[in-house]
Amino acid sequence: MKEITKKIQEIAARLFAEDKIDIFLAWAQQGEHEFHTNSYVARSAEDVKNIVFNEYSIYNVSNSLLKFRDSQERIGIAVKGCDSRGIVRLLEDLQIKRDRLYIVGIPCPGLKDPLAAARNYGGFSRKEEEGLAWKCLDCIQPNPVIYDELVGTEQTPRQQGDRFAKVKELEQMSADERYKFWEDTISSCIRCYACRQVCVACDCRTCIFDEMKPQWVGRENSTSDNMMYHLVKHAHMAGRCIECGECERVCPVNIPLMLLNKKLIQDVGLLYGGPEAGMQYVEGSKPPLSVYRENDPDDFL
Ligand code: SF4
Ligand code: SF4
Ligand code: SF4
Repeated sequence: MKEITKKIQEIAARLFAEDKIDIFLAWAQQGEHEFHTNSYVARSAEDVKNIVFNEYSIYNVSNSLLKFRDSQERIGIAVKGCDSRGIVRLLEDLQIKRDRLYIVGIPCPGLKDPLAAARNYGGFSRKEEEGLAWKCLDCIQPNPVIYDELVGTEQTPRQQGDRFAKVKELEQMSADERYKFWEDTISSCIRCYACRQVCVACDCRTCIFDEMKPQWVGRENSTSDNMMYHLVKHAHMAGRCIECGECERVCPVNIPLMLLNKKLIQDVGLLYGGPEAGMQYVEGSKPPLSVYRENDPDDFL
């Protein structure tokens, strides 16, 4: 990984020197420990030395692009497989223009969860697995799907078996059992919105959950308001979730959000076919459920 860090630093320095970028988005260690690695914005060639790619560079850095969607900076960005799918998401949603980006792709070897490492270090909670983050064990796309320059060698996806197996288990339950399962699970949500903040597919400028007039969704931390939050959030993810797993990774109460996302990914695939969200970029193309036509089927209404 030190070799990859060196190459990213060299590329970023070169891009600054050639005046091709104004900022470079990547990761940096921002504390005493390696697990204190987070997203980072290099604003000059001087800053490039701070960039690292280590085993905790797991944050989906494509999410950081949202902070720059209304500005004019030319942006260099380092992306892993999951991050690159986020870039496709933003290009399809017209949140950023391709010609503002110089994308450095990193075939990803699989990473560790810095939050789990921090919890282990703190010693206040049950010791967690030290190995790869579960989202990386479940990864179907470690290699960037869009890039201008690639750093490192192609990786093999780690996901094995039926990735919708847990979804199918839930589908076997009766409607009442399923309702009870989700009611119990979602009642522990503290509505911190970390899952929304970290999500690159949540790119609406005004979020329905922040609207006060009218207030579409109650803000009470009750099971019914929590249910409404998750129903709306996940309905908005249908056909758009790039399966980066960040929402579930950052959830402080371990709600299995990827179960909901995978159900949607499975069903959108069955209903609409085609490549999964963010898997390829074709200029002008739109994901399922993002375009309205008057002759859309509506027998279910
Ligand atoms: S999900 Fe895949 S691409 Fe993303 S950090 Fe894990 S292994 Fe890398
Ligand atoms: S991160 Fe977890 S606790 Fe916070 S709003 Fe999302 S599901 Fe609820
Ligand atoms: S819903 Fe979760 S897995 Fe899907 S794009 Fe958002 S953060 Fe990633």
